[in-house]
Amino acid sequence: MTVTPSSQIDAVIDSFRVKDGVFAVGMHERGVTLYNQQVRAHNLVWALSELEQTGVRPLGRIAVIGGGAAGLTATAALLACMPVGSSVTLFEKEWDLCPVQQGCDGRWLHPSLYAWPEWGSRAPSASLPILNWSEGRASDVARALLDGFSKYINERTESRFKALVGVHHLQINATRKEISFIGTNVVMTGPYFKQGDSEGGTEKFDTIILAAGFGWERVNDYNTSSYWRNEQIAQPNLTVDRSRYLVSGFGDGALVDVSRLTIERFRQDTILYELFGDKLEKTEEELRRGIAKAGPNLLGYFTRIEAKLLEEAKVSMRGRLRKDTAVTLHVSGTDEKAPKDLRDVFGPGSSVLNRLLTYLLYRCGAISISRRPLGEAISSAHIAHEHVLCRHGCDTKRHLQLIFSDYDKVKLAFADMEDKQAQHPTRYWAPGYFPVC
Ligand SMILES: Cc1cc2nc3c(=O)[nH]c(=O)nc-3n(C[C@H](O)[C@H](O)[C@H](O)COP(=O)(O)OP(=O)(O)OC[C@H]3O[C@@H](n4cnc5c(N)ncnc54)[C@H](O)[C@@H]3O)c2cc1C
Repeated sequence: MTVTPSSQIDAVIDSFRVKDGVFAVGMHERGVTLYNQQVRAHNLVWALSELEQTGVRPLGRIAVIGGGAAGLTATAALLACMPVGSSVTLFEKEWDLCPVQQGCDGRWLHPSLYAWPEWGSRAPSASLPILNWSEGRASDVARALLDGFSKYINERTESRFKALVGVHHLQINATRKEISFIGTNVVMTGPYFKQGDSEGGTEKFDTIILAAGFGWERVNDYNTSSYWRNEQIAQPNLTVDRSRYLVSGFGDGALVDVSRLTIERFRQDTILYELFGDKLEKTEEELRRGIAKAGPNLLGYFTRIEAKLLEEAKVSMRGRLRKDTAVTLHVSGTDEKAPKDLRDVFGPGSSVLNRLLTYLLYRCGAISISRRPLGEAISSAHIAHEHVLCRHGCDTKRHLQLIFSDYDKVKLAFADMEDKQAQHPTRYWAPGYFPVC
C-alpha cells in the first residue's frame, strides 16, 4: 500500500479551500478543459477521503454545487468512497445534469489535445477511474458522463444521495456553511430521472464543494451563442455568396472558431494527421524540444522553424482554405488585458495546437486582423451582426458574487487561487484508489 505524505494531502486541500469546509474546483484556473476539471474533482475527493480515513476531518453532510463534468465526477467519486453516515446533495441550476455539453453535436471534445504536443496528448481515452470517456462529439461525451454517473446511484448509495435541478435560487454562506436554495428533487432511474417535489430552505453542511463552472460567457451586443450551443459556421454556405465573419477574442474558443470558419472540412480530431501526415511524430518531437526553450510567446519560434518544420503543413493548409468565407480576427477584445497586437495572440492564453493553426492561417493570408475597437472593426469590414462571434471568456467574479452571500469573506481566497494556479491537473491518487462501478 502506498502511503501519501500528509503534506501532499494538505497542499491539495489548501489549493481547493475557500474557507473551512468550503472548496472550489478550478473556478479560477487557466487552461481549463473538461478533463482537467475531472482530474481536479478526483484530487479533491481523494484528499478529503484521506482526511476522513485518518480521522483528521470527517466528510459528514456534503453539498456539491453544479452538475457539470466536475460536479458529477466529484459526486460519483464521493458516492464511491464516502463512509456510512455521510450523505451527498447535488444542486444543479438547469433542468438536467451536464447541461452545458448535452446535445452539442458540432464541437469535438478530446481529453488531452489541449496539452499537445506533450507525450501521450493524442491518446483518445481520458483513462479516468470515475466517469471515463473517450474523444467524441461533446454530446457523446455528455452521454458517457451521464451513463457513467447513473451507475453510482445504487442500492448502497441511493438513500444517501439527493439531487435537485432547476435550482434558480442558490446562495452559500461560507462562514456558516449554509446553503439557501429553491429547487426540484429528482428521482434517478438509470441515466434519466423523474421529477419529484419542489422545495426551498436553508440547510447546514459539513463539506461544500463548489463545481459551478466559470459563469456564463460574457454577454455582448451581438448575441453570440455560448460556445457549446449548436451552430452552423463549420458548414459550407448554401448560397453563392461569400460570407464575411468577425471573430473577436484571443483564447481557445475564438481560435477554434477561426479554424472552423477558414479551414475546409475542418475537424479537430483529424487536422493534425491531415497537415503533418507521417511526419507527425517527428514534428511533435521537435516541437516538444523547441517549445520548452521558446518561452511563452510562440510567434518568433514558429517563424524560425517554418522553413524546416512547417512548410509542408503550410502548403497543405493553403489547399484547404474555405472559399465561401472571409474572416477577420479581432484581437483588441474589450478589456485592458486584451492583445493590442497580432504577436499577443501567440502568447500563453491558448493551446499550442490552436496557436499553430492560427499561425499557418496567418502565413497563408487566410485571415484579416483587426485592432480597432469592436464596433469600428465590424462596420469597416461590413459584417452583419449575426456573423459576429464574440469569444470574450466568462465573468467568473460576477458568478461568484451571485453565489456567495458573504462574498467579501471569501474574495481574498479566490484572488489567491487565481494568483497561485495551484490546482494542478496532476493525478495525486494511486491507481486503484477509487472503486470502479
Ligand atoms: C468558450 C469555451 C470553450 C471551451 N472549449 C473547451 C474545449 O474545447 N475542450 C474542453 O475540454 N473544455 C473546453 N472548455 C471548458 C469546459 O467548458 C469545461 O471544462 C467543462 O464544461 C467542465 O467544467 P465544469 O463542470 O467545471 O463546469 P460547467 O460545465 O460549466 O458546469 C457547471 C455546472 O454548474 C451549474 N451551475 C452554475 N451555477 C450554479 C448555481 N448557482 N447553482 C447550481 N448550479 C450551478 C451549471 O448549470 C453547470 O451545469 C471551454 C469553455 C469555454 C467557455
